Amino acid sequence: MPDYQAPLRDLRFVMDEMLDYPAHYARLPGGEEATPDVVTAILEEGARFAREVLLPLNQSGDQEGCLLEGGEVKAPKGFREAYQQFVEGGWPSLAADPAHGGQGLPHSLAMALNEMICSTNLAWGMYPGLSHGAADALRHHGTEEQQATYLTKLVEGVWTGTMCLTEPHCGTDLGLIKTRAVPTADGAYEITGTKIFISAGEHDLAENIVHLVLAKLPDAPEGSKGISLFVVPKFLPDAEGNPGKRNGVSCGSLEHKMGIHGNATCVMNFDGVRGFLVGPPNKGLACMFTMMNAARLGVGIQGLGLTEASFQNALAYARDRLQMRALSGPKAPERPADPIIVHPDVRRMLLTQKAFAEGGRMLVLYTAQMLDIVEHGQDASEREHAETLLSLLTPIVKAFLTEVGFEATNEGVQVFGGHGFIQEWGMEQLVRDARITRLYEGTTGIQALDLLGRKVLMSQGESLKVFTKEIHKFCKAEEANGELAEFVGPLAKLNAEWGELTMGIGMKAMNDREEVGAASVDYLMYSGYVTLAYLFARAAKQAREALSAGSDEAAFYEAKIHTARFYFQRLLPRTLAHARLIQAGAEPLMALSPEDFGLGFEI
Ligand SMILES: Cc1cc2nc3c(=O)[nH]c(=O)nc-3n(C[C@H](O)[C@H](O)[C@H](O)COP(=O)(O)OP(=O)(O)OC[C@H]3O[C@@H](n4cnc5c(N)ncnc54)[C@H](O)[C@@H]3O)c2cc1C
Repeated sequence: MPDYQAPLRDLRFVMDEMLDYPAHYARLPGGEEATPDVVTAILEEGARFAREVLLPLNQSGDQEGCLLEGGEVKAPKGFREAYQQFVEGGWPSLAADPAHGGQGLPHSLAMALNEMICSTNLAWGMYPGLSHGAADALRHHGTEEQQATYLTKLVEGVWTGTMCLTEPHCGTDLGLIKTRAVPTADGAYEITGTKIFISAGEHDLAENIVHLVLAKLPDAPEGSKGISLFVVPKFLPDAEGNPGKRNGVSCGSLEHKMGIHGNATCVMNFDGVRGFLVGPPNKGLACMFTMMNAARLGVGIQGLGLTEASFQNALAYARDRLQMRALSGPKAPERPADPIIVHPDVRRMLLTQKAFAEGGRMLVLYTAQMLDIVEHGQDASEREHAETLLSLLTPIVKAFLTEVGFEATNEGVQVFGGHGFIQEWGMEQLVRDARITRLYEGTTGIQALDLLGRKVLMSQGESLKVFTKEIHKFCKAEEANGELAEFVGPLAKLNAEWGELTMGIGMKAMNDREEVGAASVDYLMYSGYVTLAYLFARAAKQAREALSAGSDEAAFYEAKIHTARFYFQRLLPRTLAHARLIQAGAEPLMALSPEDFGLGFEI
């Protein structure tokens, strides 16, 4: 069975040393509660829960899957009990608003904990994970009554939430949805339609499930301008706020799928069920975006969590597994062969995983600070600045960390050789679980269009400039620092090139909008690599300073500099290929006719 130790030392490095979380928390209202001691205690206790409670259920949950019997879904053995412990421990309410029963701690702390959950049991983590988005949508857009009825229960975790968007004929293009909502005489709505692929749509972990559902009113305009958001409880709350009469929403079937077997992916039937409008009519998509943005960061963290889990196990295996001798001569002459960690190619794979795990953690925690400021910051201009960065970085967190997460988990299998392909070791599960992260909450292609089209080009490059200016400032400040030259020089060049590439696409797009779609995924990956380069350069600076100050943890800081160096020398050159591909433009993609695609016959 795979093992896992929460990366507490690295979390402390990023939070305390690199991003000065203690000062960040001290400035947030309510954040003063999150003293370094409290943060350490919470992270340590979360690490224990992840390792001792969630990890042992990961493989069994994958093998057992969920079961639909008489309309009721049973999650795998142990999931319900683990969830009860989670609720009793107060974990769901950690970062929620005290006005709704939350503990008011910063979101970033919950995000750091979420990495551990994703590393140890992704499928389980999606049951509480979706509730956060549902709670966010109700907090921002729900009426007082809706908040009183549903929000506290979601915050406490006694009820869980879902997000019901996708229908059989549409996932990306939600303007096509067919689910209808007809007003009833008492001000509620009767909702009819079928939703598919609904994560945690039905299960036995909590006493009630709160579905947030997109549907169209009878007089709704066509397309995405005519979508409204509704709250549809599985059990209609009674006068005391407890689960009352069963509503007509039901699980028609469970999907059999490639990974996350322990999470119920449901076809949900809404047969004239009772629902309540959330937010203004026809503005449902905007309301749902609140939920989707939170969920997108959550999915990026899934990519990170799986990367870390795969890395730790691949590293342990590579130290242990004996095969062949090092090219330069035996390294363990007393043993029949050398451990595979001596081979450069195995090190390439391990360091790729390590760099993506540490780089991803920095990206998540940097973005998490922006989220804290957007939610709780006191200064309007600071909030606006953080909002711009959060909005720019969200598609990068989501898509880049899941793309490299899939690569990293695949490398984990490769380090294990044929054993990686065998179920028992748990490495192939990580790949299967990682695969979905590139798809749901908007595919990589859609995140890339969001980044390049909506975030960058629609703001005439202004949002990007906010970030590239910050990088430029860092590079200028460290220009004369010889110890950082290997990082700062290449970073400054790439930072300038990022702007030039953006302008190039913008110019081409004036003649042909397809140029945006043709460049977008390479642009997103390029952006992800440059962003991680900036963060690794800052990490290297921090590590150098700790070494100069005579730290007694020299090995940790030296490893950090080595990892940054590996990243700059062996991963960052991928930007060269992405830049060339961006410049290759739309023509090579668009030349073939959709009818026969150059095959000479129609498919
Ligand atoms: C296990 C699982 C869990 C899920 N959980 C939920 C959930 O809880 N709630 C929910 O509502 N949904 C959920 N989904 C649905 C998921 O979000 C969608 O599958 C996803 O958004 C893609 O939609 P689609 O499958 O309809 O693909 P399509 O929209 O048909 O897309 C097919 C391909 O075309 C590409 N494409 C489409 N339009 C464009 C474009 N304009 N430009 C470029 N490329 C484009 C896409 O990137 C993709 O590669 C889940 C799905 C799965 C498999």
